[in-house]
Amino acid sequence: MPEDFIVTPWEVSGDIDYSELIKRFGTKPLNQPLIDKITKAAGKDHMFLRRGLFFSHRDMDLWINDSEKKKKVYLYTGRAPSGPVHIGHLIPWMFTKYLQDAFKAPLLFQIPDEEKFVFKDGLSLEDTHKWAMDNILDIIACGFDPKITDIFLDTEYSKTMYKEAMKVGKHITFSTAKAVFGFKNENNLGEIFYTCMQSVPAFLPSIREKTNTFCLIPHAIDQDPHFRVTRDVAPKLGYPKPCAIHTKFLPGLGAKDSKMSASHPETCIFTTDDAKAVQTKVGKTFTGGCDTVEKQKKQGGNPDICTVYQYHYYLFEQSDKDLKDRYKKCKAGKLLCGNCKGDLVNYVNKFLKKHQENREKAKKKIKEFLIRD
Ligand code: SF4
Repeated sequence: MPEDFIVTPWEVSGDIDYSELIKRFGTKPLNQPLIDKITKAAGKDHMFLRRGLFFSHRDMDLWINDSEKKKKVYLYTGRAPSGPVHIGHLIPWMFTKYLQDAFKAPLLFQIPDEEKFVFKDGLSLEDTHKWAMDNILDIIACGFDPKITDIFLDTEYSKTMYKEAMKVGKHITFSTAKAVFGFKNENNLGEIFYTCMQSVPAFLPSIREKTNTFCLIPHAIDQDPHFRVTRDVAPKLGYPKPCAIHTKFLPGLGAKDSKMSASHPETCIFTTDDAKAVQTKVGKTFTGGCDTVEKQKKQGGNPDICTVYQYHYYLFEQSDKDLKDRYKKCKAGKLLCGNCKGDLVNYVNKFLKKHQENREKAKKKIKEFLIRD
């Protein structure tokens, strides 16, 4: 029987059951006691934790324990460039920024500019490099502290990366790579080796600090297979297993059950979209509303199946009280989809205006962040 949903580093499809995914991947649910522990240690809460956008983890508690003992802890996240950044990409970065501010943790931001080159047809290394330099502006625009943030491209930081990647590679057999990633005879060697490069930044904190140092990787759950391999290799190299915290995916805009995908521009809001594009995309988004205004006023809408509501819930309606009001009014037929979409358009455009200003300023800051060797 075919699986009802698929989540791999290269494919996300179907109606994802996140509890089932936790079982399949063998991660742990991010339960309330751990959310409370993170919040207490951070000294402030975060909407993504409160609203369940981050839902799963591996050893996040160990990372927090070390930070509570005043030991140095690191963060690591990344972006494989192949096109423009959309707001779904920003979610782990925004959360990483919260953690960096709260824990004063140094951040390694990997840009594997070879990944999409080896995995996708039609993209040259020059293309991925061009997108890397574009995407860096979005990364810097998130507001990371340049004093404790290093951004690097794999092809430009290769003197440091390659040596360590080879050490990782020596501990991964081809049969493990096949079992974890489903590689076949048709896969090229670049694809098979790639996971070694993605592993390295998880160990760089221990190498840099010359002592075992925990590294936390906030990332979308589809990347977990890479880090499962990294965690298996870590003790063999004498390093602690990296910790991770996982985010769900935002639904795509447009038709019901669409997935947010940069290959389908109508399903995502790019960080460079203008106000009109946002209005058009949100305007075409699936809602839980009725066919007619009269019917909706009488029967109410259904926020539980509504994509617009999910955007308010996970990202844009910051006040819990206003979110509750929106839910109640929708159910009672006192809020119409046109107005609700209008509110979302306003929130998104306000957010993008600020982000685009920061993106412009980032052009002058690249040198403060980018490391090469
Ligand atoms: Fe969705 Fe808003 Fe319409 Fe309710 S009013 S169904 S939350 S768009």
